[in-house]
Amino acid sequence: MSKTEAASLPVRDVAYDASLFYPYGHPPGRGELVEITPDIKWLRMPMPYALDHVNVYLVRVPGGWMIVDTGLNSPVTRGIWEELCDGPLRKEKVVGVHCTHYHVDHLGLAGYLTERWRVPLFMTYEEYYTLRGWPEGLDAVPWQHAEFFQRAGFPRELLAQTLVMFEFGWEIAPLPLSFVRLQERDSHPLNGEWQVMVGRGHSPEHAMLFSKRKKVLISGDQLLPTISTNVSVSVMNPEDDPLSHWLASLERLAAIPDDVLVLPGHGLPFYGARRRVAELQAHHRQRFQMIMDACAERELSAYELVKVLYPAPLGDFDLQLALGECLAHLRYLARRGRLENRLDGEGVNRYRSTPLTIKR
Ligand SMILES: [Zn+2]
Repeated sequence: MSKTEAASLPVRDVAYDASLFYPYGHPPGRGELVEITPDIKWLRMPMPYALDHVNVYLVRVPGGWMIVDTGLNSPVTRGIWEELCDGPLRKEKVVGVHCTHYHVDHLGLAGYLTERWRVPLFMTYEEYYTLRGWPEGLDAVPWQHAEFFQRAGFPRELLAQTLVMFEFGWEIAPLPLSFVRLQERDSHPLNGEWQVMVGRGHSPEHAMLFSKRKKVLISGDQLLPTISTNVSVSVMNPEDDPLSHWLASLERLAAIPDDVLVLPGHGLPFYGARRRVAELQAHHRQRFQMIMDACAERELSAYELVKVLYPAPLGDFDLQLALGECLAHLRYLARRGRLENRLDGEGVNRYRSTPLTIKR
């Protein structure tokens, strides 16, 4: 689940990557619509977090415009939408809302916008129902969750903090009671020249939009220019191996030609999808090596590994993301025989590099 936007851990890459080409030197100002092409407009919605914005796109479709991602459900974001609707969009028609995935910064105002225009929401099945099924405002930590955190070596006294993952209700306007299901390779129902490309690992069934003719990919959080997207084992799906899904999705994105303009969910639009994919693959390889080195020196729990990989103090939510990331990498390596793990007498999973992976 994303409170600050789960793509943001840690927000460390401030400078834009020199290996990519950014055709726009700076982002749109508040409420400004930047024309990418006559058929695509770009705007930014602010967020009160370390990752301080999310990109929103307007895509021309027969009969009007489709909104792609919405911003958080906050008075500021609603205000910007109202200004747009009364201003530059006054004579325009919105005919649908597409959400790449269920995280609050991308979907927070889906209900509000679909209601305002009385238009359908387009999403994948797994994204829509993940949000529908996400518990909200838990009073106590369920035993399954307590066991998950215990196995990760998370301090018992911090357990109550983990409920932060279920305190996001205000960031999402009531979800529409119906949606139009999108699936991998679908031509978008509102405009067939946009094809749905599903990515996995950051969220269950993330729907990017690719137009071969326009040479544009709206990538959501699946391909970001400067930050590495959060990939976490979640308490709601504790046995998952999300990094496998993520790396397989990256592999597919490596086939996107470099003359395709990538319109990401955060950061500036860029050219150089293949180079970015290669950098992200290298980032994960480097992470794997750091983890195997750390676990060669001593047996570590996931929580102890967080302290190694993210030595700076972390807030409650970022700590959850960091733990999820560590678990995702540990799970990936353990499933491939690169790490051994055992449950110790206190019910904590401890990981050690296998002899094969220890550097001599
Ligand atoms: Zn996200």
